[in-house]
Amino acid sequence: MSVIGIPQNTVEMLQKHNFSIQKKYGQNFLIDGNVLEKIIDAAEVTQEDCVLEIGPGLGTMTRCLAERAGSVAAVEIDRHLIPILEEALAGYQNVTLINEDILKVDIGKLAEEKNGGRPMKVVANLPYYITTPIIMKLFESGVPLKSIVVMVQKEVADRMQVGPGTKDYGALSLAVQYYAKPECIANVPPGCFIPRPAVDSAVIRLARYEEPPVQADEKKMFALIRGAFNQRRKTLANALNHAAGLNLSKESVENALEKMQLPPNVRGEALTLEQFARLSLLLSKDR
Ligand code: SAM
Repeated sequence: MSVIGIPQNTVEMLQKHNFSIQKKYGQNFLIDGNVLEKIIDAAEVTQEDCVLEIGPGLGTMTRCLAERAGSVAAVEIDRHLIPILEEALAGYQNVTLINEDILKVDIGKLAEEKNGGRPMKVVANLPYYITTPIIMKLFESGVPLKSIVVMVQKEVADRMQVGPGTKDYGALSLAVQYYAKPECIANVPPGCFIPRPAVDSAVIRLARYEEPPVQADEKKMFALIRGAFNQRRKTLANALNHAAGLNLSKESVENALEKMQLPPNVRGEALTLEQFARLSLLLSKDR
């Protein structure tokens, strides 16, 4: 692996291009070669793969990916990084740079254009301010994906992996666990970035399930989950009764809970993924 993750190179690049770091874009550049290697290894990138990188930054990880993958599509929002990336990636014919907000990109179309619609791998050191919307977009859009290996805030990595009975358990945990098997690859301290983020980070691998682990009315289930966790201190029956767009009476929720042998005053935060799935089926029959 080329020595491009080392701190001097990053500082030199920033100075050479007189680049001012944009906090609003969550710019924390990875400078630790070992962590970089762990990310690429966890993604098991081969020449067969088309990789989507979100937020290539200065191109450090992009170059490593380009050396291992068949092709790389790198989506970067900050137009000031584009000339720097073009220079850093000169000579890599298999990289396509896209200057766009990832939340606005039609990833399905991109997969079609770049990989004939076959599943891509996502590898990224994500901008932390939009981690959840990015992960949700990747899953909910139904884009063909093999796996996602991303650097996220440690607290978010924890949220993705926990079950009921913990304060971190919520809509993100359920969504991630419905679509994928989460696995923590490494904990990463702030000193591995320039500038240092205020929080600890972690690399997480989300291996997409071919079939979801539970049978559910998917749309309904996610509406129930959103309703439950938008007002997590309320009982589930009250939270869903007040949730906009659901149109559920308190009685119908309590009846469904009874069929599931759950108490009428249970809170959503106590339900497992299996229970939310079952509830979605019971409540869609009611309608
Ligand atoms: N990959 C680089 C690295 O590891 O050093 C940079 C990672 S930095 C944490 C996040 C990157 O995402 C920045 O380059 C930032 O400009 C970019 N970014 C922020 N918001 C974005 C968005 N909505 N769409 C695409 N890129 C975005």
